[in-house]
Amino acid sequence: MNILILGSGGREHAFAWKIAQSPHCDELYVAPGNAGTAQVATNLPFSYNDFEATAKAIVDLKIKLVIVGPEEPLVNGIVDFLKARPELSRVKIVGPDRLGAQLEGSKDFSKNFMLKYGIPTASSRTFTSETLEEGLTFLESHALPIVLKADGLAAGKGVIIAENIATAKATMQDMLVDAKFGDAGNKVVVEQFLRGIELSVFVLTDGINYKILPEAKDYKRIGEKDTGPNTGGMGAVSPVVFADENFLRKVENKIVKPTLSGLQAEEIRYVGFIFIGLMNVKGEPYVIEYNARMGDPETEVVLPRIQSDFVTLLLAAADQKLAESDLLISPQTAVTTVLVSGGYPEAYEKGKKIAELERIEDVLVFHAGTAANGNGEVLSNGGRVLTLTALANSLEGAVNKSQKAAATVQFEGKYYRKDIGLDLIRYND
Ligand code: AMP
Repeated sequence: MNILILGSGGREHAFAWKIAQSPHCDELYVAPGNAGTAQVATNLPFSYNDFEATAKAIVDLKIKLVIVGPEEPLVNGIVDFLKARPELSRVKIVGPDRLGAQLEGSKDFSKNFMLKYGIPTASSRTFTSETLEEGLTFLESHALPIVLKADGLAAGKGVIIAENIATAKATMQDMLVDAKFGDAGNKVVVEQFLRGIELSVFVLTDGINYKILPEAKDYKRIGEKDTGPNTGGMGAVSPVVFADENFLRKVENKIVKPTLSGLQAEEIRYVGFIFIGLMNVKGEPYVIEYNARMGDPETEVVLPRIQSDFVTLLLAAADQKLAESDLLISPQTAVTTVLVSGGYPEAYEKGKKIAELERIEDVLVFHAGTAANGNGEVLSNGGRVLTLTALANSLEGAVNKSQKAAATVQFEGKYYRKDIGLDLIRYND
């Protein structure tokens, strides 16, 4: 069958790489894709936010399966839009509808959902411009640090951890009065700070049945030892040593199952991925956030560990037959290191020639912000440029291979973190 992936990051290159290996995949398309997806699929020249162009491509190219990579089109209702078209009624789509995507699109919605279905999470309250005074007073008696979250999508920048009350108050004013986060900040969720170690668990669901995919830990800050501003992600590791069987059983029973039964009770037919950001607080899992799609760069360590045919799993999810599918996971460790443009996550330059890619051996090269210039050269085209995933029998082995590849690739201004996975190696000791 012909398959379309929407998106242009490392996540979508990893999807394309995995899907292209399936005997069920005939023609594979990515919109808009990058220089890496062009090696395993055909890139289509329209944005993943262009619903009309997506509908037209599905008809013109006889697409039978669509996978929506990023959150923005999901939250804006691309699945509802496509499903409403009679000519697309038989197309299978992996991705939740607008209501399901609210798990990510509105922190207020997801907090209410967790409260209603007894899912462990930090206690919180939501304020709007009408309740600003009450909110400011509430902050005065709140324990420090205070977590403030813009309700809507804010490209990973909507969470502020305030170390003092003055900063918390200023942040609340920024969101509710000065609209510094646009409409995303019309509501602000004030949350208890959770102390622990973070990890992410990924679920593929058909709305009733589910498969728990390999868990991962990502590295969000730009600087080593988790310093400096947040980024889209500088690296990831799977599996996560502290997520033992006992902990993962708690995640399944206390979080995954009530999440799915909650969605059913709300009559949300959720088909797709649920990315559960978790805090391990003294062995107990708490939900920090839900995302309505896979993570990037976590996908680049999760998919290489999945040994089962991925298209079979995606089709089973779309057909509500996930209970009949097997999920085989490799026991190997996957580590990915992200190469970014100098200056990222602030201003950075694009268009730098990427060299020495051909010297990389035994490491999966997933492209993120790259573009081909037509002369066979690959140029940087974004903040995050490449993610380099190594698989090995040990965490140390995977870290070393990924880091060696990161040192080999060259482009002007290249930066990467040299401590991806090192905390987990120490944890093992
Ligand atoms: P989010 O966008 O909700 O994932 O938040 C971004 C980051 O802020 C998370 O990855 C955590 O590191 C941190 N964070 C969010 N909520 C909390 C919380 N309640 N306690 C401690 N850290 C948090």
